[in-house]
Parts: sequence; structure tokens; C-alpha cells
Amino acid sequence: MTARAENAKTLAALLGVGEAAAVELLLGPVVVTGDAPGHAFATELTHILERTIESVVTDVRLDARLEIVVGNASARIPGVRHLHVGFTDCGLRLDHKVIEVSRDAPQGHAVFATIGACFAAAAAVNIVVDGAVPQARPLPFEINNDDFLRAQDVDLETALEIGTAHLAGGGAIGNAFLWSLRRFDVRGTLYIADPDDVSAGNLNRCLWFTSADIGEPKANRLAAAAATSFPNLNLIPRRDVLHALQDKANPKWLERLIVGVDSRRARRALQAECPREVFDSSTTGIEEVVLHFNKQPSQVACMSCIYFEDAREQAHEEHVAESLGVTLDEVRANFVSAVAAKRIITNYPTLKVADIIGLAYDSLFKALCGEGVLRTKAGRDVLAPFAFVSVLAGALLAVEFVRRARTGRIAEPFNYWRVSPWGPPVTRLKATRDRRERCQFCGDEVYAGVVRQLWG
Ligand SMILES: [Zn+2]
Repeated sequence: MTARAENAKTLAALLGVGEAAAVELLLGPVVVTGDAPGHAFATELTHILERTIESVVTDVRLDARLEIVVGNASARIPGVRHLHVGFTDCGLRLDHKVIEVSRDAPQGHAVFATIGACFAAAAAVNIVVDGAVPQARPLPFEINNDDFLRAQDVDLETALEIGTAHLAGGGAIGNAFLWSLRRFDVRGTLYIADPDDVSAGNLNRCLWFTSADIGEPKANRLAAAAATSFPNLNLIPRRDVLHALQDKANPKWLERLIVGVDSRRARRALQAECPREVFDSSTTGIEEVVLHFNKQPSQVACMSCIYFEDAREQAHEEHVAESLGVTLDEVRANFVSAVAAKRIITNYPTLKVADIIGLAYDSLFKALCGEGVLRTKAGRDVLAPFAFVSVLAGALLAVEFVRRARTGRIAEPFNYWRVSPWGPPVTRLKATRDRRERCQFCGDEVYAGVVRQLWG
């Protein structure tokens, strides 16, 4: 499946339209017009938006579906729809109309350009589809930099020594995490673990990857692409699951775990590795970002409390197993085995065994699903989010990682936050979630003993 097909499936499900109509809507062109002070933001926005909209250009196109005007620039294309992005003293403002802003309004730390660009990209996509995205809040609204990080509270400039940390997942969130982390002077060693290879469909949301990376291991390509941006951080890729990086000689091998994997089940498995610190970010459905943090031993929620096994997850796995003709346990193993592949092709004779071994079940299911199925709950669970949703997840993860690694207060000032790029961030949703009763990790005496021994 190509990046274009991934985006079309997602938009079709979001709007309830056919995939052909969705492809058409995502063609563009969208024109980005910026002045000199807005150049960095315009570049970032273009880079993110062109993962979703086929044609994002800076030259004047009279057939533009939308012109995005950044900073104090003047619109160049009359008679088309406009999205204005203005820099204010607090952050940025998104509006259909021209925004009067002071010429020298500060744009804040460089990482805010990435965060702000995700909100601007969401607003742009909603305008392109005639305001049909159900989750989108009407313009104008403002994105306040202090909603994410009060620069006066945390030192963002001096070097930050992170020791040895591990990143689980080299996909969309892992890409965006490093894309944003390079804005800080981070030092130490970061292992990147991902057993998967880059596929054509991944290109719709992985910022560092290009078509030249298809078929190559995600972890290796991510480390190679990001390396020049991190002169003081040693990036070590491993084409494997995190568990395989276990250091038997050092029980305290997993001090700092950054999580960007793609399922609830995988997150629970990572918590069971007993990391001391967890920095986690995910996308729910296709429209929202969830952030979670914990430090063991802990009296508040762990990652398994947040991503407990729910009825929806079970129903989804049962549906995938039934559709493909495999067992539930095989689906829960996440990747298609040789034995399962043989069974699947008896139901889908057009497939070849060699092509589907090692594929994630959700990817295979998504490729085989028609439009009707993808609009059901089981179908929506496998849709890939748009780039700006995953990038927001990775960017906020980087900001919170730097903040919390600097202060040492890993689960503070909140351990849970949901953010949607389709509207202004809601800071009152920042919460400290309690432990869940009967959590399979923190409710288990064996794990509790291991945690006390390791980190107590
Ligand atoms: Zn728990």
C-alpha cells in the first residue's frame, strides 16, 4: 500500500466518503506564502503537510485549493481560500482572515515551529475538505507556547546529559521524536529498537524517511538519517524488539525508555520490561495524541494502567483473526508467521506466502479491507493517522522528555494528557492518573518485587 492510499483510506473513513473522492481531495495544490521571519515555520509546515497533501508548493498556482499565508506576508492568490498563520507574543494564531501582528513578535524555541505546524496542517486539511472534519474546531484559535512548555520554568538551552536511553519504535512517532529532539543539545547514548522494515505506506508520516529507504530496517535508516543532527548523541540502531536488547549482565539496563510503538498490547509488554522511567506517546484512533509518563516504583498509573486490555481491543483482534482465518494467539503475536501465512493464502489465493511473512497483522488487514469495513470500529483501529497527528505526538514527547530528564521529576507536573491537533490544546486535560485496580503490571506482586529490587 502506498502513502497516498494510506492517506486516502484515513480521510475516507474520517469523512465518510469513497476512497476515490478522498484521493481527489488530497491532491492539492496548496500554496505556502511566507515572509522572511516566517521562513523557518513555512518550511516546517510544508515538510509536514506534504506527507498528507500531494502537492504543496511555494510558487503561485491559480488552481490552488488553499493558500497558507505565514507571518506578515501578503496573500498572492485572490479568489481562493486562505489560512493565515500569525505569530503573536504568546504563540501563533490561525484564522481565515488577515491577522494583525507585530512585526517582531518572538516565535519562541525552535521546537514550537514543529508543534505549531501540526496545528496549522490540521487546519489546512480541514479547509481543503470544506470544513468537513467532524473533530475540527472553527477558526480562529490560538496556540499558546506556554501550553506546552514554559521556557522560563525549564532550561532548554544548556547541554542535557541523558546517559543511556532506549527508544522502542522507529516509525512515525520515533521519527518525529528525533526530528524534534535535535532542537536541543542532548548528549549520551540512545538505542533505537524496531524489528520492522520501511514500507511504502510508512512514507505518509515518517519525517526522516524517503522512498530510498523502502525495504530497509526502520531503526537503521532512522539512526543514519538523524545522526548528523546529533553531534553529541550516539544513536545505536537494533533491528529487533526492545526485549532482545536486554543486558543479562546488567539488570538495571533499562533506566530510560521512550515509547513510540503502535499498539496497546506492545505497550503493556514494554512496561513488563520494568523500566525505571517511561516516556510514552501514542495516537488514538486517527485524531488524537496521548502522552503518558511514569517512574518506578510508583504510586500512580503505569503504562499498563493506561493501556489496559479493553473490550474494544479484544473485539478488534477477534475480528482480524476471523477475517484472515488465523487464531487469536497468532494475531496477538503481532507479526504473520510462516505457518499462519500458509493458512491466510488459502482464504486469499491472490497473496503470496513470501510477501506476507513478517507483516504486521493490522497492515495486512488494512490492505485487504474494503471501504465499508474500514468505516466500522474494527476497521478504524488499523487506519494510519495523518502525518501531523503522529508528528505532534513525537514533538510533544521530545519536549516532555527534555523537561522531565532535566528536572528528574518524570511523572510531574502531569502523567497523562490528550491533545488534538484539530483545535486549541486543552490544558485542563493535563492530569495525574491513578493506578488502575487489577493492573497486570503494578497489581502483580512479582513485578512489584522486581521493581523494588531494581529501583526502590
Ligand atoms: Zn499499572
